[in-house]
Amino acid sequence: MNKSWINKSRWSHEYSKGVEDFLNFVNRSKNQSGKILCPCKSCINRYFHSIKDVKEHIMTNGFFTGYVIWNQHGEDHQVEDVGAEFYPGCKRFSKLSFILHLFHLKCLNSWTARSFDMLLEILIEAFPEGTSLPKTTYEVKKLMKAFDLGYTKIHA
Ligand SMILES: [Zn+2]
Repeated sequence: MNKSWINKSRWSHEYSKGVEDFLNFVNRSKNQSGKILCPCKSCINRYFHSIKDVKEHIMTNGFFTGYVIWNQHGEDHQVEDVGAEFYPGCKRFSKLSFILHLFHLKCLNSWTARSFDMLLEILIEAFPEGTSLPKTTYEVKKLMKAFDLGYTKIHA
């Protein structure tokens, strides 16, 4: 994700475009009351605010420039990829939510890793071009671990 806008003038087009991108990105990390941690210069991820208020804060106070990896908003090394839609135009699932559903089925029905690999293989072939799915059970688990989704809990 491009973050160069953070250091641009708050009145520039790039800045407001960047803010929009950020807000779209963090839309997924809302808490139960629909709020997110505010990364503006005065809140510095200490307070939760509505998306609307966060936007206002970022526009008026500026974005906290030390906040380079948006880990408080769901970003880590793989997040840009995972937060992406499952395939272009897919409204029902994100890549991650689809994988979670799939993996849950695997656990419920005690599919073997090998059978799950085979399923992934045919799904990758069947879905539209641009679909991002891990290719193996191992990759799925790695992904879930990276997001601390507690696959061990699901597994138990
Ligand atoms: Zn703020």
